[in-house]
Parts: sequence; C-alpha cells; structure tokens
Amino acid sequence: MTKEIPIILAPCCVLIEGHNYSCIYDLQRNGIYRFSNLYRHLFCKDEITKNWNILVKSPTKKDKEFVDSLLSNQLCVKSEQNSFFRPIDTTSYIQRSCENAIIDRDAKSVYSMNIVANQLSSVACEAVCIRYFKTVDMESIENEIEAFNDSTIRHIEIHCVLSEKISIDRLRVLKKYYGRVCSFVFYSEKKSEVVTVGNNLIIVMKKYGIDKYKMCGSVSDLKMRAQTQFYIESKNYNNCLYRKVYIDSCGIVKNCPEMTTQYGSIDEEGFQLKSIFNSAIFSKCWYITKDKIDQCKDCEFRYACMDCRCFLKEVDNPLSKPAKCKYNPYKS
Ligand code: SF4
Ligand code: SF4
Repeated sequence: MTKEIPIILAPCCVLIEGHNYSCIYDLQRNGIYRFSNLYRHLFCKDEITKNWNILVKSPTKKDKEFVDSLLSNQLCVKSEQNSFFRPIDTTSYIQRSCENAIIDRDAKSVYSMNIVANQLSSVACEAVCIRYFKTVDMESIENEIEAFNDSTIRHIEIHCVLSEKISIDRLRVLKKYYGRVCSFVFYSEKKSEVVTVGNNLIIVMKKYGIDKYKMCGSVSDLKMRAQTQFYIESKNYNNCLYRKVYIDSCGIVKNCPEMTTQYGSIDEEGFQLKSIFNSAIFSKCWYITKDKIDQCKDCEFRYACMDCRCFLKEVDNPLSKPAKCKYNPYKS
C-alpha cells in the first residue's frame, strides 16, 4: 500500500470562512480562491504547527477534484516535511503614525502645499495622493511636489488628465529629481493599462474621467486584494479610514472625500493637524473592523474588500454594511 503524503495549506495562504462559502487568500500572489463550504470539512488546523492540514482520507470524487485544484493552483503543498512549514506571520502590522493623505486641487485651490507638507509631517505621514481636478502642467506639478522635499512623505502619487502640457519623457526626468514620486494616474485615456517606465515609476492609464464622486465606496471583485499588510489592517482596523487624512480643494480637513464632518482648514492660523488627528472624534471609525459589520462579519471576502463607513446600507446604523455592496453572504 502506498503511503499518503501529507498536504497542508501553503504557508503564504490563509483560510477565511464565510457563511456559505470560504476563501483561500494567497497573500503572496494577491489571489482569492473561493469555494463552497461543502469542502470545508477537508481542512483541519494543526494546533502545534498552526498549519491547516488537508485531509484526503476516503475522499469522494468531488473532494479529490477539489484538492487537485488546490494543488494545481499551488494553494497547498504536498510534503513529508510539512512540520518545517510555518504559516506566514499575520500578526505584525507595520504601524505608521499617518498612513496616507489624499489632497485635492482644482482651479480655485489657493492653500499652500508647503503648509500641507509641514502639517502632514507633524503626524509623520508616509504617502500622499494628489488629485488634480483641473488641467495641470509639468511646472505646476514640479512646484507642488517640491514642497515635500524635506517632509516625512516617502511616496507621492499624482492623479490628473493627460494633456499636451504633460510629456511622458519629462516624467522620467522628473522622477530623477523627485524620487518620492512613485506613480501617475492619467484619466480619460483611450484604454486602461499600466505602463512601467523604469526607475520605479508606474504610469496607470484609466479609460474613464477623473470624477471624485465616482471614485469612492464601490465594492467589486476588481477592487479586492489579498495582501499581507491589507489583510492584517482589515483584521485589526478599519481598512479605509485608519490613520488617513483628506484635504479637499479648499484646504478643508476631513476623514475622507465623502465624509461631511469638517475639522478646519489646513492653512488657517493656529490649525494643528496633530491635535485633530489624535482626537477621539477624528479616529472614531478607525477601530470598526469588518468583523463587527452586519453581514460582512459572515462574508468570506471580509479581509479583502474595502470597508466604506460613509455610504451605509442603513444610514443610522454605524455597523451597517457598505451601501454599494450587492453581495449577500447568506444568499450567495
Ligand atoms: S469611507 Fe467610503 S467614501 Fe470614504 S474614502 Fe472610504 S470608500 Fe471612500
Ligand atoms: S462589503 Fe461586506 S458583504 Fe460586501 S463583499 Fe465586502 S465583506 Fe462581503
């Protein structure tokens, strides 16, 4: 009789149980593999190694096909040395004081980017996304990103419409002088595509127009991600709002583009982002995790999809699921 070789879930994968379906998130390759809970009995946690063992004793034909598909998708590993495998560490979240900020600029914006850079540095902000709702030229972009030269910001992403005032060749030169700029997202292009122009500069083309009212809150499989940091953030914090700041085109500080609560203007005298940022009111949604949200808590996608706390299914219930999600984990 041939000896069965043990099978375990690949160490880079996590198993997430939902009401009717479960998912395996491949955190290394950003993959989500959904399956019916009819196969859930095949998984058994080894309490010593913390690995998920896959049991294939007396499998039905369907069980066997299921396990074969896991193996062919490299979601599980067949090995006699399986005690050497250790699951990926999904407990250590890289804590940053402020994760990122979205900054909007339009034709009427007059607030100073130097003030923005100083205020964001006061909360040790790591990354900014600047969105231009106006035609912008290279000189204006360069002048504005120069403000971040001595700041805590390490990543800058620019969103705008690609016009004749912007040249892709000049973007390469810009990247040489402003290493913090990581990506440009251009709207209203002929087709959606991602172009890497080298030197760690990514250019993303979007087929649709830049419209702040359409950029938020939608839930779709295209927006889901299975990535270690996002997974850990989703387990412990609100994955959309935790330690994030929004500055609108008039300089008003909010939690996000769609929230109505305003915390003052970035350039008003005496304004201190640091004290706002650490206040109870500003952080009130930070600790609402998907495990607390109606329906989401039983959904197999709960650590892969963004949790919008602005558009809610039930307006008066802060733990209501995101309004723009059509998925129902109890019916699907
Ligand atoms: S909470 Fe909703 S509206 Fe606000 S940034 Fe997140 S997805 Fe957008
Ligand atoms: S919003 Fe909630 S119910 Fe909808 S897919 Fe995400 S976790 Fe599931």
